[in-house]
Amino acid sequence: MRRLAAGNWKMNGDGAALAEVRALVASHPDPVCEMLLCPPATLLSRAAGAAAGGALALGGQDCHPRPSGAHTGDVSAAMLREAGATYVILGHSERRADHGEDDALVAAKASAALAAGLIPIVCLGETEGQRDAGETLDVVAAQLDGSVPDGAPPDRLVIAYEPVWAIGTGRTPTLPQITQVHAHLRARLCDRFGAAGSGIRILYGGSVKPDNAAAIFALRDVDGALVGGASLRAADFGAIVAALDAA
Ligand code: PEP
Repeated sequence: MRRLAAGNWKMNGDGAALAEVRALVASHPDPVCEMLLCPPATLLSRAAGAAAGGALALGGQDCHPRPSGAHTGDVSAAMLREAGATYVILGHSERRADHGEDDALVAAKASAALAAGLIPIVCLGETEGQRDAGETLDVVAAQLDGSVPDGAPPDRLVIAYEPVWAIGTGRTPTLPQITQVHAHLRARLCDRFGAAGSGIRILYGGSVKPDNAAAIFALRDVDGALVGGASLRAADFGAIVAALDAA
């Protein structure tokens, strides 16, 4: 499988930030891993222009479950695709918290993404309270079961394990904790998809930085990363891409 370094710019970035896209494309013309940035929807087509001819893929950060219609402020999967996206992040914990998104809605969005030709990156992860209560494995398994639609093709599906308490905090689980959750998700995927489950990419996300990336990428069943803050600067994200290539 080709591993994936995915950057999530969240609600950050304006036209000036396209310089970072150009710098990343110039510094990584031929990465071993797949390199992806998910800028705000307003920047998607301009980022696609800035990345043209390079090895950088682009993605959205959310999509509506319906293909079109009276949904003010929303963006469809087909619109993202037309703007240059090939991936879309779905069910990020910030959307689950800010917009009350539940597993069923995330699954519907993933179906819409697949129908439009996008690869969904389905995010899941426990809160700190859930971890402290010893519920992590049950929580992520339930999210996985509920957020991945039936019939999703394993080769067009990415899972991102992102402990909520590690996002944007500078804190990360221990390496054994990451290994334990990824192994649990892998087993669950193999139960559901059979042997093809072993080829589904499982990303780790939550305060991945240039200085901790190599240790995380060395772990079994970590097939890349979803990176927030450290994806905003080409130098930092490029260092994470390099760490994944070296792993
Ligand atoms: C994220 O937004 O998915 C994320 C992991 O953020 P950060 O890397 O900043 O923790």
